[in-house]
Amino acid sequence: MGWFSRKPSPKQVEQVVLPTSAPRSGEADSAREARIFDLGADFLRRARTHKTGLLSAKFYSDALMEWSMKDPEFKVQMFRFVDTFPMLRNRGGEAIFDHLHDYLSQPGVTVPPVINAALKAGGLLKGAAAATIAKQIEGMAGKFIAGTDAASALPGLKTLWDDGIAFSVDLLGETCVSDSEADEYAKKYLDLIQNLPAQVAGWPANPRLESDHLGSVPRVNVSVKISALSARTDPIDTEGAIGDLMKRLLPILETARDRGVFVNFDMEHHALKDFTIELFQRCCEKLDFHAGLAMQAYLKSGPDDARRMADWAKRARRLVTVRLVKGAYWDAETIKSELHGWPCPVWASKWQTDACFEKMTDIYLDACPRSADEAKNGGIKLALGSHNARSIAAAMAGLEARNLPREALELQMLHGMADQLKYAAAELGLRMREYVPVGEMIPGMAYLVRRLLENTSNESWLKAGFLDNADAGQLLRAPAPAANADSAKQPADLLAIAPERHRLTPGVPGVGDGRPFFTEAVRDFSVKAQRDAFAAAIARATVPKIANDRTVDQAKDMIAKADAAFAAWRDTDPRKRAEVLVRTAALMRRQRDGLAGVMIKESGKTWREADADVCEAIDFCDYYARLAVPLFERTRLGKFIGELDETLYQPRGVAAVISPWNFPLAILAGMTTAALVTGNPVIMKPAEQTPGIAAILFDILQDAMKESGIDRTLAQNILHFCPAPGESTGAAIVRDPRVAIIAFTGSKAVGLDILKAAGHTPDEQPFVKKVVCEMGGKNAIIIDTSADLDEAVLAVRASAFGFQGQKCSACSRVIVVDPEGPDGPAISHFTRRLVEASRALTIGDPTLPGTDIGPVIDAESKAKIERYIELGKKESRLELSLPVPAGLEDRTGRAFVGPHIFSHVPESAAIARDEIFGPVVAVLHAKDFADALRIANSSPYKLTGGVFSRKPSHLERAKREFRVGNLYLNRGCTGALVGRHPFGGFGMSGVGSKAGGNDYLLQFVEPRAIAENTLRRGFAPEL
Ligand SMILES: Cc1cc2nc3c(=O)[nH]c(=O)nc-3n(C[C@H](O)[C@H](O)[C@H](O)COP(=O)(O)OP(=O)(O)OC[C@H]3O[C@@H](n4cnc5c(N)ncnc54)[C@H](O)[C@@H]3O)c2cc1C
Repeated sequence: MGWFSRKPSPKQVEQVVLPTSAPRSGEADSAREARIFDLGADFLRRARTHKTGLLSAKFYSDALMEWSMKDPEFKVQMFRFVDTFPMLRNRGGEAIFDHLHDYLSQPGVTVPPVINAALKAGGLLKGAAAATIAKQIEGMAGKFIAGTDAASALPGLKTLWDDGIAFSVDLLGETCVSDSEADEYAKKYLDLIQNLPAQVAGWPANPRLESDHLGSVPRVNVSVKISALSARTDPIDTEGAIGDLMKRLLPILETARDRGVFVNFDMEHHALKDFTIELFQRCCEKLDFHAGLAMQAYLKSGPDDARRMADWAKRARRLVTVRLVKGAYWDAETIKSELHGWPCPVWASKWQTDACFEKMTDIYLDACPRSADEAKNGGIKLALGSHNARSIAAAMAGLEARNLPREALELQMLHGMADQLKYAAAELGLRMREYVPVGEMIPGMAYLVRRLLENTSNESWLKAGFLDNADAGQLLRAPAPAANADSAKQPADLLAIAPERHRLTPGVPGVGDGRPFFTEAVRDFSVKAQRDAFAAAIARATVPKIANDRTVDQAKDMIAKADAAFAAWRDTDPRKRAEVLVRTAALMRRQRDGLAGVMIKESGKTWREADADVCEAIDFCDYYARLAVPLFERTRLGKFIGELDETLYQPRGVAAVISPWNFPLAILAGMTTAALVTGNPVIMKPAEQTPGIAAILFDILQDAMKESGIDRTLAQNILHFCPAPGESTGAAIVRDPRVAIIAFTGSKAVGLDILKAAGHTPDEQPFVKKVVCEMGGKNAIIIDTSADLDEAVLAVRASAFGFQGQKCSACSRVIVVDPEGPDGPAISHFTRRLVEASRALTIGDPTLPGTDIGPVIDAESKAKIERYIELGKKESRLELSLPVPAGLEDRTGRAFVGPHIFSHVPESAAIARDEIFGPVVAVLHAKDFADALRIANSSPYKLTGGVFSRKPSHLERAKREFRVGNLYLNRGCTGALVGRHPFGGFGMSGVGSKAGGNDYLLQFVEPRAIAENTLRRGFAPEL
């Protein structure tokens, strides 16, 4: 079957437009531009006429790629399929065919007729179709990945060397999830560094590749990704993470030093940039090895980063190489910042990246020593990781301008790309190095997908140069906005226009800044200043000492005052009430880290959990403020002449807010502000475990009312703080006949009791109580056979063990699909990886940034969790019981339970059915996806659920059939954001609409309708 294997047409590959003369634009007048053009044109001419460079051209002539570039929808689905492919490969033709069919039948995808015909194939033809696509993808991977290991790549490296091209070997792999994976990766690197020098020692000498103007250049050059060397590469705990990395990195670097091997640190995501620089510098200061670091020009911080590196090299008197690249994660960085509401770290336009590349080139060339003597004082040697002849020519012109020889510059290009340029560079006498990735397809998939994206991007210089055959004038022009672009209209910073783009609420004039709501961004702990400020705030934070001692009589007195003040609050201008919320949000924002610090100390939240709790509290205020105002504006129904029909809402009356300890600020703030902003007085009864943060919130609300000009007595009467025992005072509050609405979040037992109590209506009670009741969960994540396990393992770990599993949304069941049974390869592999990944978690004092697992809320809770662990041991197989470090409980005065994982858990087991509210997860087996859904749905709790699958029809089926309040696909099942993920369940998980959803406030009001006859003696105003 030949659908994908069309021969490249000679026209596509060989048609070239040779540069003629320099373009006559204004910018070319400068001598620099003219020189760049000359150098670039020469380079390009040589490349375009080069005979050996068909490999990369073949990529473009490949039918799959051609279709991908023509049709963005096809490209998305095809690349998603390619990403899934290695997982399917082991499962045979049927699985491959099924998934391909699924992806390409997604709405909006136009399937080329030749594939369409193959997709309609049945029976044996399916196998043939699958084999064809498998061959095609493997061929594509083979273009970018040089072999499964260094040994298999060696003949290719030798051929390169013979052709005058050096190499840097990269062992594919990144973002490992466990210590054992990191150990394995480190072992492979050590092996490579120990053995490769001997293997290449017999190759003929090549002075051009083995020396520069400062001395010798190692023959063996390897590239490492630090995220593959530690499961704790998290800058939040920079010192801890560097310590863990050093354990594996130092032996590698020492061996490299001893064997004269060059080691380059690749640069990964922006979150790791400062961390990687810090690590690199410390390694260089500690050990004298041939060192290199990749730096990225697509970052807005690029020039500052370059100056920082150059200054350090001088200060440390260290000679290092910088591989300057543009950057491989542009899409990912743009998307990540969008999702977090962070400023985008990368330039918005390609020309800005190119301009930054040239600027950084200049900074590094300025830092390049001119002689071996000068090099003793340290400096930077520059290598360019680019396939862009303009970027390269600009650097060559930069050399000339500084009287630096050509040897002072190294060119590096990727395996499988731009072969024409590589050979042209060698011909020009430049030191050319190919970056050669080796490894298996699964760890290599992230790399492969980056290459596919890069090569099919409309912004790619290589595509413009060798597929579109753009002319030299265009290809070599100085980076600048397109000639016809309106320079004032650069692409907007996505963050700046985020509220309007997303419109999670209407923008209400006079409420806040008048713009729609947008979520408060969590802290970016990769930024040192944010980490330091957070640590200082935790150190300063003190938890107010609050006794839970309010009596029933005191509570009744509060209710009486609230009831008496109801009418005045009800009739207060809704905008005033909204102002109170906006000011509350602002006051919380001003002391964000301090509030987090109090929660860390009072409830044992870890840094990120506490920070997210504060953000959510702020969000509830800003969100409900914007939703409440329109609610109290009368809405006209229809436009009947002679009749004015309107609806409006009115508050219900005194609200009892009974909140839990697990989101001690966010949930209390959410329920309280929802009630207040809709005109209901509130009695706040916080959980007994966390009255301190509740007291602070109460004070903030009072301050906000004062700032908003609310009368002091009114403010005191409409909001009461009632820290008290639940069984006595709490129970009395909810039963009081003057309480009109109860907003409760907590356990199923208490929730059901409140519902029952609220159903009793004594004679003196003039209304039926409304109960908004959020209870527990027994949430499941399904792991399908095509799941991306790198993501699934980390997401399950975070969902199950984040805040020690004490979230109603936490994952406590993982249902793994394995057609081969409960001991089949899929479930065994997943369980093993989850166990290993969980072993990498640090149990510790939550005030420290490196702590992943803090204490459970109290000793009573610990005892309950441990009872379940004992049951689990009897019912199933204990796979992990992470020990609590000795002395930790005494040191912190808190109760701890380490993460526990059980496998072979029967559906009937208590740990598969009961809400435990602790770090315990049950792994269950399902024979297929339908079975997984059945098991997931079998719980009476219906709160959150998750599915990891790369089969579109399974995701679609989950949307229809996985019946939970919040379903998460291919992500963890916790961390709902206000406005974006309205949160709440049904079944035994609660009654009422969703917190942070646009109908939440309706529960706190009652609707009224008014019809007015406007006809008077035969006439009406609107006729
Ligand atoms: C030897 C070698 C090693 C490498 N190592 C690393 C590494 O460690 N880390 C890493 O991140 N990358 C690395 N890369 C990948 C490299 O970043 C990409 O190959 C490179 O960006 C392609 O740039 P170019 O100059 O060849 O192509 P060009 O086509 O000139 O530039 C493409 C680049 O422009 C940027 N871009 C695309 N669209 C936009 C836009 N709208 N706005 C702003 N910028 C845009 C992107 O960064 C894109 O990759 C390496 C590359 C080579 C050759």
